[in-house]
Amino acid sequence: MQTSLAPFIKDTAEGKEADAILRKCTHCGMCTATCPTYQLLHDELDGPRGRIYLIKQVLEGATPTAKTQLHLDRCLTCRACETTCPTGVRYGRLLDIGRHLVEERVFRGPIASAWRGALNAVISSSSLFAPMLRLGQLARPLLPSALRRKVPAAPVPAGLWPATSHARRMLVLDGCVQPSLSPATNAAAARVLDRLGISLVRASGAGCCGGVSFHLNRQEKALDVMRRTIDAWWPHIEHGAEAVVITASGCGVTVKEYGQYLAQDSAYAAKAKRVSELARDISEVILAEQAILKPLITHHASRITGQRIAFHSPCTLQHGMKLTRRVEDLLASLGFSLTDVPDAHLCCGSAGTYSILQPELSGRLLDNKIAALESGAPTAILTANIGCQAHLQSATTLIVRHWIEAVDERVTRNQH
Ligand code: SF4
Ligand code: SF4
Repeated sequence: MQTSLAPFIKDTAEGKEADAILRKCTHCGMCTATCPTYQLLHDELDGPRGRIYLIKQVLEGATPTAKTQLHLDRCLTCRACETTCPTGVRYGRLLDIGRHLVEERVFRGPIASAWRGALNAVISSSSLFAPMLRLGQLARPLLPSALRRKVPAAPVPAGLWPATSHARRMLVLDGCVQPSLSPATNAAAARVLDRLGISLVRASGAGCCGGVSFHLNRQEKALDVMRRTIDAWWPHIEHGAEAVVITASGCGVTVKEYGQYLAQDSAYAAKAKRVSELARDISEVILAEQAILKPLITHHASRITGQRIAFHSPCTLQHGMKLTRRVEDLLASLGFSLTDVPDAHLCCGSAGTYSILQPELSGRLLDNKIAALESGAPTAILTANIGCQAHLQSATTLIVRHWIEAVDERVTRNQH
C-alpha cells in the first residue's frame, strides 16, 4: 500500500512504525473473512481492511470524526486478522497508534469520558476492584436475574501456596481483577510448578500489567504502570528468577510487548526488553516440563474419563501470543477428553472492557461462543484468561475455570 504521511507524524517513531505497517498491507481483504465484527455487521469499515484505511487517512492528515472513532471502538483487538493476514501486517500495533491519534482529536463528551476514566480506575486497581466486587456479591441475591448473571459469584478459595523451597524460581503476575475473581488460578499454578521443582514467587508492587489502561487509550498511565511493574520484578530478575509467568493470556500478551511499548524510554527500554524475553504464558512453562508432569497424572488417566472438556482458546492466547492449539494438545496428552469447538478462532466478546463498552455486539458474540462451546455436550469449560472466564460464566450453567486448575486437581488428587 502506498502512503504519504502528514508532516505532524511523518518523522516521529510512531509515524515511522505505522508507515512500515501500512506498507505491508496489500489491501487483499483476506482478513475480513475472519473478523468477528465484520461477520456481525457486514460493513467494510467494521472489518480490519476498512479500519486500516481509516487509520491511514488520519495519518495522512484527514480530520477524524465520531464515526471514525466508532468503527475503531467496535474493534475487539482480537487480532484474528493478524493470524489470517498473508503478509504479516501488525494490525494490533497500528490500531494502538490510530486509536491514540483519534482519541486526541475527537472529544467523547463529558459523560463518556468520565465513564471510561472510572472504568479504567476501578479495573486497573485491585484495591478498588475487590471491595466493589464484594459489594456486588453481597447484593447479588437481590438483583434481577439479568443483572445477577453479570456479577460473578464468590470464587473458589485459593488453597495453599507452597513455600519457596526450590532453587528454580519464577515470578508470577498477580493481575488486577484475577486475585478477586479467581484467586485459585495463580495458587493452582504455584502448586503444579512446585511439583515440577519450581517455586512461583509474587513480587509486591506488581499487580496490573497496564493492558486495560493501554486499550482504554490512557497510554501514558499504562506506561507508568508498566514501569512500576518492571521496578517490582527487577530485583528478583537480577537474583536469578528464570521467567515471568502469566496465567491470564490478556496480561501475557501485554507483558510480552513491554519491550515494544517502552522502546523509546531510554531508562526502561533495556529492562522492558528483558522482561518481555522472560515472559511466559503458563502453558509454555508446563509444556517445557511436561515430561516430569505426565507421570504425575497419566498413570491415573482413567480417573479423568467421564469428563468432557470444551476448551475456549482466548484471542490473546491464539492470535496475540500465537500459542494456537498448544493447551488443547497438552490437555489431550495428559488424558483429558476434549470436545470439538466450531469457529474456535472467533472472539467470545469479552475483550478487556469491550463487554461493558459495546454490550450489544459483545452479547451476540457471547451467545455464539456459548453455543459453539456447548455443542459437543461438555461437562465443563476450561480457558486461559480471566476476562473470558468471567464473561463465559455469565452465560452458562457449566463451570468455567482456568485449565491449570483442572491440572492441579489431578496432580493434587494423585498425590494422596
Ligand atoms: S482485531 Fe479482531 S475485531 Fe479488530 S479488525 Fe482484527 S479481526 Fe476484526
Ligand atoms: S489480509 Fe493483510 S494484507 Fe490483506 S487486507 Fe488484511 S491486513 Fe491487508
